[in-house]
Amino acid sequence: MNKTYDCLVIGCGLAGAVISRELAERAGKKVLIMEKRSHIAGTTYDFLNEDGILVHKYGPHIFHTYNKRVFDYVSRFTKWRDYSHEVLANVYGKLMPVPFNLNSLYMAFDLKKADRLEQKLVSAYGMGQRLTIAELGNNKDSEFQELADFIYNNVFLNYTQKQWGVTPEEIDSSVIARVPILISRDNRYFQDTYQGIPANGYTSLFDKLLDHPNISLRLDTDANELLKIIEDDIFFEDRPFKGTVIYTGALDQFFDCQFGRLPYRTVDFLFETHDVTWYQSKGTINYTVDQPFTRITEFKHLTGQSVYNKTTIMKEYPKSYTGSEGETPYYPIISSDNFKLYEKYKQLTNSLRDFYLLGRLAEYKYYNMDAIIERALILADEIICSRKGNNIDEDNNIYSSVL
Ligand code: UDP
Repeated sequence: MNKTYDCLVIGCGLAGAVISRELAERAGKKVLIMEKRSHIAGTTYDFLNEDGILVHKYGPHIFHTYNKRVFDYVSRFTKWRDYSHEVLANVYGKLMPVPFNLNSLYMAFDLKKADRLEQKLVSAYGMGQRLTIAELGNNKDSEFQELADFIYNNVFLNYTQKQWGVTPEEIDSSVIARVPILISRDNRYFQDTYQGIPANGYTSLFDKLLDHPNISLRLDTDANELLKIIEDDIFFEDRPFKGTVIYTGALDQFFDCQFGRLPYRTVDFLFETHDVTWYQSKGTINYTVDQPFTRITEFKHLTGQSVYNKTTIMKEYPKSYTGSEGETPYYPIISSDNFKLYEKYKQLTNSLRDFYLLGRLAEYKYYNMDAIIERALILADEIICSRKGNNIDEDNNIYSSVL
């Protein structure tokens, strides 16, 4: 029997790192994290490229949350750069704020029409409200239907086809609902109470998160090769493992894709460095009517790095994930068929004692960063409390350890 570790955590992204810290710190567990990649921080990993620009290797990550517990938790490990992300849609050369808002109206239409639409929208829905494109399209007023068609055709259709390979009607409505229509002049992409970028980057945040004497880390380690399940028992490095296992990887891969692959979208990220101080006016420009890529992000806007005459941008080319060497599954594709397939895999874990699935891949959910952190904190509460007869701290609505 393996006595060195109390917990095995597979994957060192946000889910794996947060739960490891919680179990190590609050429950005194000896945790081993195994990470397939040669670096920590999962898809939030950032690094200085050869031109000295801090870039996000796996696509832009902007932290935002309404959840104070989550914000306070992350703030233990980083200071923040106060940054509100803004996105513009490039519609045949015109740049209009996304989510589409009252300012976007004036970019899209002449003054008279924009004025009229603004007044009608405010009186129908109220200043400060948000609604989905479907809600606007279902309004009986033909001018609202026309506006919904305009937004659908110029903001959602082409971008969604590139991102998901299908039209907006063919994906789960929750995906499009992530980007509402705003009856306001708020040009921020997110309206959450707390938003920002870790002042020294995400990788540095992870360095602090993982800096605990009870946490050990093995990089370049494929846990699927070291963990085996034999008749409902878990074996680690060929010895029975009786502790807690948290799995944050793709669930189909843990079971050798025996029922077939779970579908995901992946993205090719193309970096370009240009000899100019600024390439574009905002952090991200979405190409919603043309171009083969979905968006261009210029990292200096996000990070606040001050570099003269050099800037790095990223173009994103989404495509189907096939499972080939070097491809990464980024986006689960939400549908009832895919969820049924996921459930088949999940059932294989039901008989495993002390085995938990956590995070975007393992739970097959389109989680934002804050939702993953929240899930990890709640799962840690559950694991710690189910063992130790701990108390619930009603004021903070969290469980407090009495270890
Ligand atoms: N979307 C779109 N046009 C845009 C922005 C978003 O059609 O300009 C749709 C698209 O289907 C996208 C979804 O809304 O996948 C969610 O967008 P979000 O920005 O949340 O995607 P993420 O940043 O997670 O890739």
